[in-house]
Amino acid sequence: MAEKSFKYVIVGGGVAAGYAAREFAKQGVKPRELAIISKEAVAPYERPALSKAYLFPEGFARLPGFHVCVGSGGERLLPEWYKENGIELILSTEIVKADLSAKTLISAVGESFKYQTLIIATGSTVFKLTDFGVQGADARNIFYLREIDDADKLNEAIKAKKNGKCVVVGGGYIGLELSAVMKINNFDVTMVFPEPWCMPRLFTADIASFYEGYYSNKGVNIIKGTVAVGFTADASGEVKEVKLKDGRTLEADIVVVGVGGRPLTTLFKGQVEEDKGGIKTDGFFRTSVPDVYAVGDVATFPLKLYNEIRRVEHVDHARKSAEQAVKAIKAAEEGRLIEEYDYLPYFYSRSFDLSWQFYGDNVGETIIFGDKDPAVPKAKFGSYWIKDGTVVGAFLENGTPEENKAIAKVARVQPPIASLEQLKADGLGFASKI
Ligand code: FAD
Repeated sequence: MAEKSFKYVIVGGGVAAGYAAREFAKQGVKPRELAIISKEAVAPYERPALSKAYLFPEGFARLPGFHVCVGSGGERLLPEWYKENGIELILSTEIVKADLSAKTLISAVGESFKYQTLIIATGSTVFKLTDFGVQGADARNIFYLREIDDADKLNEAIKAKKNGKCVVVGGGYIGLELSAVMKINNFDVTMVFPEPWCMPRLFTADIASFYEGYYSNKGVNIIKGTVAVGFTADASGEVKEVKLKDGRTLEADIVVVGVGGRPLTTLFKGQVEEDKGGIKTDGFFRTSVPDVYAVGDVATFPLKLYNEIRRVEHVDHARKSAEQAVKAIKAAEEGRLIEEYDYLPYFYSRSFDLSWQFYGDNVGETIIFGDKDPAVPKAKFGSYWIKDGTVVGAFLENGTPEENKAIAKVARVQPPIASLEQLKADGLGFASKI
């Protein structure tokens, strides 16, 4: 089979790939120098839309509406844009073998791709309940959500099981966002998760109690402290019941599972250094192999602000790490130096008419401020994390753009506080003064 050769290849066609392509174009990439090879059938898009507006019953988002880079207020890169810029989009093509010493990638149908410089942007894959041997987990209408094909299948089931019962397994942001959209689709929704409160990796018990209260008021049932241990299906193989570890059984027409995932590094195992489950990079996203970069969910990189090595699975980092890698590639070619990546962790989520943002690090003591009564329309409240007498993290529900900017600045500057009591009394005012 014919071999194709490019100066630059990006493997993976998600968020990071799209933002890298835009940066390559800015830096004057020449026609046919760059190829993006993606398993998905569509050009890079803003993945967070899949668990939000893509599943709405009305006013839903569809491609080409949310191709990158609209999520950060940038130009929408339609398939024509890649053509006009001489960037080859090789879609519906899964790479199944990577030989980093021979600088060659092989696809599932045996095509061979050569590169001079490679950017690994394969993102993450979800954990499936079948991976853990959960009984009956291969029944039909049990869904996961990572790619647009998954969202299409869920949308079909939503139509087929109109006004039915949905069990959401998992209490992270995917579980919360999916519970909300299933409720908006008029399903009877029950969320099940083992932890004492939702989003335990970020939320404090105080923050979580607001969201759980809000969801209850919307009619979402929440079952905590237990897990799904089995499923029963009807004669046609469709899921009917979810069995819980605590002995309860829940009826279900649709089950949606959001129990986390892992970065897709398998292709490169043993060929490149890894750390914390990802591919180890420096502040320019260079890996241990010359001419190979890794960005987005798969990269474990130095988080300069905290002097730590971390992996971050958020869209903002996918965008920024991709841009940084391309800048670094071009600078190296031209013998220029650029600044090391200096990232401020940023994460957000939206569901119902709620919208929160978080910046910084969620370590140390916390205080909560504002109106955290979930019955109050458009309640605004927030939280600070304080370590060694300085604010290191800030969370805000329902902030204005200026207020969100202010909490981001606090997390970046890490100002000292007079006392926890004073900080609590000042609330958002503390951030506005920084
Ligand atoms: P991805 O965007 O996942 O792209 C990886 C691409 O690589 C995919 O196209 C995949 O098909 C392709 N690929 C993988 N292996 C191969 C292979 N072997 N050959 C060819 N192609 C391959 N983050 C937030 O901060 N806020 C949110 O609200 C939010 N919502 C989310 C909602 C959902 C449903 C999901 C799934 C994620 C959400 N995220 C959110 C996380 C965010 O989308 C990811 O962090 C981001 O997409 C990572 O970008 P990436 O380019 O590294 O990976």
